[in-house]
Amino acid sequence: MIRRDALLRLYNSLLARREELLNQLSSDMTGLGGSQGGSRDEADAAFDSDNDEINSTLAERDSEELTEIDQALMRLKKGTYGRCEGCGGKISAKRLNALPYSSLCIDCQREKEEQPDWEPRFLASRYTHLGEVRRQADDGPEINISKLQFDN
Ligand SMILES: [Zn+2]
Repeated sequence: MIRRDALLRLYNSLLARREELLNQLSSDMTGLGGSQGGSRDEADAAFDSDNDEINSTLAERDSEELTEIDQALMRLKKGTYGRCEGCGGKISAKRLNALPYSSLCIDCQREKEEQPDWEPRFLASRYTHLGEVRRQADDGPEINISKLQFDN
């Protein structure tokens, strides 16, 4: 069980990291396409375009991390933080310390990396379940046969 103050500290550090990434992303975006100046020949031009590629890859990675942080913040709020979204098991504290926003336990992470079409079993089943509950709520109460008979 993760203690409440530890969770709060984690929440704050995730928020701080989120802020940092947002700043970084916006500066990455303005940096894209710009050259660093200096003498220009073909080698420089090639280097610049490589650099842009690296920048956009970094930006991509940053925005992925941002998504992961957002999801981790959501899990913290919902109280499902630290639970593996692959199998529903617990993510080890050691792993959470190293990767605070990891949503998979080490086993599921490994499975995911090895199998391109890997899908989280636990999450899929939970979403199906939630979907069913919502559908029922939207349709209103189920028709009760005995009540119909009573009304007639
Ligand atoms: Zn797992």
